[in-house]
Amino acid sequence: MTKLSLLTDQLHAAAPQTELLTSSGDLKRFAVDGVKPQVVALPGVVDDVAALLKIASERHLAVLPVGGCTELELGQPPERYDLAICTVRLNALLEHEAADLTCSVQAGMPLAALQQYLTAKGQFLALDPPNAERATIGGILAANASGPQRLRYGAARDLVIGLRVALGDGTIARSGGKVVKNVAGYDLNKLYIGSLGTLGIIVEANFKLIPRPERQETLLVSFENAPAAMETVIALLSSVVTPTAIELLDPAAQRHLSEQAIKMLPAGALALWEGPAHLLAISFSGGAQAVARQLADTRTTATRHAGSPGDHLEDAAHDAFWAAVRAQQIGPVVCKVSLLINELAPFLAHAQTICQEQQLEASAIAHAGSGVIYLQLRPPDATDRLAVVISQLRAQALKSKGSLVITHAPTALKAQINVWGEARPDLRLMETLKQKFDPHHTLVKGRFVGGL
Ligand SMILES: Cc1cc2nc3c(=O)[nH]c(=O)nc-3n(C[C@H](O)[C@H](O)[C@H](O)COP(=O)(O)OP(=O)(O)OC[C@H]3O[C@@H](n4cnc5c(N)ncnc54)[C@H](O)[C@@H]3O)c2cc1C
Repeated sequence: MTKLSLLTDQLHAAAPQTELLTSSGDLKRFAVDGVKPQVVALPGVVDDVAALLKIASERHLAVLPVGGCTELELGQPPERYDLAICTVRLNALLEHEAADLTCSVQAGMPLAALQQYLTAKGQFLALDPPNAERATIGGILAANASGPQRLRYGAARDLVIGLRVALGDGTIARSGGKVVKNVAGYDLNKLYIGSLGTLGIIVEANFKLIPRPERQETLLVSFENAPAAMETVIALLSSVVTPTAIELLDPAAQRHLSEQAIKMLPAGALALWEGPAHLLAISFSGGAQAVARQLADTRTTATRHAGSPGDHLEDAAHDAFWAAVRAQQIGPVVCKVSLLINELAPFLAHAQTICQEQQLEASAIAHAGSGVIYLQLRPPDATDRLAVVISQLRAQALKSKGSLVITHAPTALKAQINVWGEARPDLRLMETLKQKFDPHHTLVKGRFVGGL
């Protein structure tokens, strides 16, 4: 009997409701930075997740939690990777308390499937990362993914009220609860969210929900440059309007928006695409009257700051436009830069200058009201020049008291520049937590901040 068949037999016996994959095609699909697992396990029940982890911990196997495989290359390459535990068969809606605006779901449910169910009930989960068709609830929480609507509703830590997590030794732990008002104590939900599967495998999540708004509309406004656009953003944030999202698209990002989304734009919005302008997309949601009044106020504010407003986007054009914007958060090389909002425009100008010096193309979208830029750099195989540019941009971000994380990069680039940057003083605390939660290092090491 081979070592592999001994292992699969043991996994089968301990976790009978688990499918095991070992074909080379399947293993390739679950590879991370070229490192393939020996086995992929797809548990059908939570008890099997616990049983698989227990065996992995006893046999010193390195486990990677996997969701929809949309973002497996996040982080540095893994040190070792033996077993993928993929949650996609754990995809049930467990509870929906419509009157309390809460729900409880298994971690492998794709976000889009949950939204489809909730839409029919007049509610939604206010998370809008890209790839919602395939990205699972567990993967989204593990990576603390968000999208443009975080301006109005916050990110995952603001929306999760409870989690169930399988820890490295197979123990199942709970944090938080099912109701919005939970008892006091350490809020461990916040610790698991964003920990990239290093502390445990999220198996269930409880969320607070939002009633679906009657209307959603977006105003597009073009500006000659980013500083003028950002003056408008700052004016809007200090006014009485409450936008759901404010996205800034530089001229290159507009060129990369999908043709399909552009085709759906009304003529008055399409006209804005003709010049080398910076574009603000400002969306509002709520009652029809409130949305109309806020759009009118926003037009006035934008015009006062030398903006040229176009038509409103609504219905299918609205949805197609925002899906295309979210898609620009992903690409072969993407840096996520977090800054104070008054630093966004100077940073974008600096990025264009140093990219031109290195003959790289840069395109940027920014959650302009939240201070988050997604900067795509091209071509992705210009490894040396990309490393130079990214280290200069990171230095600039740090100088402005911000940060730069590379969220997407080829393995060759990760070998030259760490995706997270220099470890900060809080690394000691993170190491202590990792040691407490996963003392045998059953959950893959090497990918997260400081090699955790
Ligand atoms: C620092 C950082 C910031 C990001 N910010 C944003 C953002 O602001 N907006 C945005 O849209 N996207 C962001 N992303 C990308 C986002 O991660 C993806 O949209 C999402 O993770 C895809 O989910 P998936 O189901 O395909 O998971 P996968 O690609 O399969 O997994 C994603 C990560 O989560 C782990 N994981 C998967 N399932 C579980 C589970 N059940 N329990 C524990 N760990 C699990 C995996 O090991 C992997 O590290 C960010 C990523 C990182 C690392």
